[in-house]
Amino acid sequence: MIISIRSQADSDERAQLMELLCRVIGSRQPVTTTRVDGQDVIVLAGGALDEQACALLEQQAAVERLIPVKTPYQLASRAFKPRGSSFVVGAQTGGNPVTIGSERGAPVIIAGPCSVEGREQILANAAAVKAAGAHILRGGAFKPRTSPYQFQGLGLEGLELLAEARETTGLPVITEVMEPGMVEVVAQYADILQIGSRNMQNYPLLQAAGRNSRQRPVMLKRGFAATIDEWLLAAEYVVAAGNPDVILCERGIRSFDTHTRNVLDLTCVPLLHELTHLPIIVDPSHATGRRELVPVMARAAIAAGADGLILEAHPDPDSALSDGRQTISIEQLEEIVRQASMIAHVMQESGIKQVA
Ligand code: PEP
Ligand code: MN
Repeated sequence: MIISIRSQADSDERAQLMELLCRVIGSRQPVTTTRVDGQDVIVLAGGALDEQACALLEQQAAVERLIPVKTPYQLASRAFKPRGSSFVVGAQTGGNPVTIGSERGAPVIIAGPCSVEGREQILANAAAVKAAGAHILRGGAFKPRTSPYQFQGLGLEGLELLAEARETTGLPVITEVMEPGMVEVVAQYADILQIGSRNMQNYPLLQAAGRNSRQRPVMLKRGFAATIDEWLLAAEYVVAAGNPDVILCERGIRSFDTHTRNVLDLTCVPLLHELTHLPIIVDPSHATGRRELVPVMARAAIAAGADGLILEAHPDPDSALSDGRQTISIEQLEEIVRQASMIAHVMQESGIKQVA
């Protein structure tokens, strides 16, 4: 259950409500107060309260309304926010403002190399993905690599290069943050903080990203073996820490077949639209691991109702320092952008809903 607090409620009214809460639920349930979209809310994480307790709470001067939520994730649930979430990225850093989520008409396209490899490469790559129609530039500066002997990214220099690429192209940038202590540094440069698959359940990192002082949105990639509830509870950590702007990114889950790097779980797209108000983006690059499979899975993702795509694209994919096998060319990207907006347009015009 979520209790939304009237914005005009004074401190006495709030104190009275807390007192009543202590009385009706005692120490049986954890109570978290947080601010979401400029409004204070209290999340009661236990089961449903009885009718009498609800009636008492509703009479409180500080209470605007009670929102019953039956799922363990609450602020991330569709029940809390029946209309989908939308937010703008890029405006605060001088990039071109880009809307992500339900209020955006066409799919958002995030594209760029797996890693920032150097100044010339990222500037050329950024200009190329922009010309191909991408709206946001991706590029890893801190790379979570499976082997310690693989290219680990350029670190801080990579962040500076991404900011320069934004300055020259206007594209907002997204890049990964791997540790809580680096959140503020990465937020200084990036428009969106990416939390990678390997860190989906790194709770101190999720909380730090939720608290980031610049209010940068967070793109949370699904863990290799994470259930949808675990993923949504990870998103809940970010929102409960004070940051409502979370994007979920399906990037494939681990299975037994070795033909593809992962298995793209497209079922999660319509399912998530039912369960949560958060925007969902699909990453067919990491999901398939093979560039020839990326275009068709990108089309399928849009047809399934994804709010956008994140694609690894490089002017010379075979020379990429990481994930070259799954990296598409700029020509392929241009074609995917065209097809994605065409499919979304046809769906919109013909009244096909995201969830049947
Ligand atoms: C990436 O986007 O470059 C990345 C490392 O992705 P994931 O966390 O999904 O493996
Ligand atoms: Mn990659």
